[in-house]
Amino acid sequence: MTQNSEFTAEQKQYLQGFVVGADALRNHRGQPTFAATIAASSGGAATTLANAVGLPVLAPAGSEGVHRQAQDRALADGKKLAPEEQAKRDKHPFEIWDEMRGAAAENRFPKGTDVFLYKFHGLFFVAPAQNDFMCRLRFPGGLSNAHQLRGLADIAELWGAGHADVTTRANIQIREIGAANPLNVITSLEDLGIITRGAGADNIRNVTGTPTAGIDPREIIDTSPLCREMHHYICQNREMYGLPRKFNIAFDGGGTISALADTNDIGFMAVSIDPGHDVPPGVYFRMELGGITGHQDFARDTGILLRPDECVPVAAAVVRVFIEHGDRTDRKKARLKYVLDRFGFDKYLEETQKHLKFPLRRFPLDRCQPREPVDRLAHVGFHPQRQPGLWYVGVVLPVGRMRSDQMRALADIAEKYGSRSIRWTVWQNLLISDISTENKPHVKRALEATGLHWSATNVRAGLVACTGNAGCKFAASNTKRHAMAIADYLDARIALDQPLNIHVTGCHHSCAQHFIGDIGLLATKVSVGEEMVEGYHVFLGGGYGEQRNIGREIYRDILADEAPPLIERMLLGYLAQRAGPDESFYDYTRHHSTATLLEHFQAQQSIPA
Ligand code: SF4
Repeated sequence: MTQNSEFTAEQKQYLQGFVVGADALRNHRGQPTFAATIAASSGGAATTLANAVGLPVLAPAGSEGVHRQAQDRALADGKKLAPEEQAKRDKHPFEIWDEMRGAAAENRFPKGTDVFLYKFHGLFFVAPAQNDFMCRLRFPGGLSNAHQLRGLADIAELWGAGHADVTTRANIQIREIGAANPLNVITSLEDLGIITRGAGADNIRNVTGTPTAGIDPREIIDTSPLCREMHHYICQNREMYGLPRKFNIAFDGGGTISALADTNDIGFMAVSIDPGHDVPPGVYFRMELGGITGHQDFARDTGILLRPDECVPVAAAVVRVFIEHGDRTDRKKARLKYVLDRFGFDKYLEETQKHLKFPLRRFPLDRCQPREPVDRLAHVGFHPQRQPGLWYVGVVLPVGRMRSDQMRALADIAEKYGSRSIRWTVWQNLLISDISTENKPHVKRALEATGLHWSATNVRAGLVACTGNAGCKFAASNTKRHAMAIADYLDARIALDQPLNIHVTGCHHSCAQHFIGDIGLLATKVSVGEEMVEGYHVFLGGGYGEQRNIGREIYRDILADEAPPLIERMLLGYLAQRAGPDESFYDYTRHHSTATLLEHFQAQQSIPA
């Protein structure tokens, strides 16, 4: 193809006539116009042709053009796109099905930037940690059912490791999927009504919500319809994929169990407004923005008050601003927080308003009814529902793991004694709901038969661990194994009478959110002689919700084997020095300086088991 300037006036006239004629026919057939097709193409020849016929060459037609335009702006500024942005530009992640089929048929894993593109389908090639795929799913609001759980058990057994892990986004991961089987897994999941699209890479992840939605005696509003609506909005709009970076959205219905909404990019917090204000009384949502605790930031209140039906369009508008202004060149600075830092809330909300057909409503936070405190142990054990005579049970899953035989047994329990409903929580466990009082003893016996339990010590109830180096290449330590070792050690020595959260995370990505645990462990390698061995940095006093706080580092480079006795001394110091039996570990750590806490801990002696 020659350069645009080389077309003669006659040639241009011919091409324009050709395009107009072709479009008339394509329009008649209901096909996209030739003009749009040219504009959508990224090829240089098409650009030249489009120039020749006088078409605008801005971006691909359709909803995804906004991403191309954002990349084009970065390039026009003389910047270099991040490799992941270039990969998305070169090959659309949702147009690689044939390649994925071919690779599976040849028993091949993806290479290079294709590894990143597979994540758009929820498929993570996790080498070198394991020479396998991990598949991450989506459950809006963490809601599932017995039929799906049974199917998951089969899939995990047929093509995975025979177990599944509940994640800190109330989601499920299936591991150890061989190169031949990723499409068997995702198509079988779709047969169950479970999608994996967008579960990884630069997408809006599993929408989380209050796990007791609809059954919670204390909730302000049932968030499950909103989680579902948000989920389907994302699924049905391709521009909601391929963002500058990953994005998290959560709905908190004000219930008993926290969904950790303030750790999300967008946290919608239900509030009640009493009569006497300049908005009608009722239930609304506050919008918080910018949570990313791995970067030591919680989502902050924007001053915006939304009716429930306004939340999804506003979330979409917030995402659109992020698409336009997120950094496409530096992955470390690409999350929403950094646009907010650059813009400030006022400018960000002004931009958001441009994408909305209704005005954003400002309303002071202090005129809203404060949220009831959460119950930190309400995700384990039996609890009454708001439906009289019915109970939900929180089943403890050690660091989130359940075997296929346990999944089938849990499905049986939910079917026989509940309403088939299964709810995943961000605390890496599950709830079975709608159990009658008379069936509680049957459920207890059935749970015990699975090897799982409904009750846990305070240490185990609040124990959270990310995948760790048994399955994640970023991890510096075996977090799940060390978390279990810590629980075993402590439970043999200490009877803790207050809730405690221990969060064990394998790297700075902070999937187990070490900064918000009462005790947070961040994996590192510690030098011992000439060797580098597994260890941790230790943080204290993190919290969420009403007690939101980023934990402070108190010990560095602790060997993994030293962590259990060290935490034991910390807990003994707390029990010995707390102001009274009602003072929580969180309050205790907040009331004392680091130097005083260290003195308290050093004064303690480890207890023989
Ligand atoms: Fe992997 Fe790091 Fe996330 Fe742990 S925190 S699962 S090591 S990425």
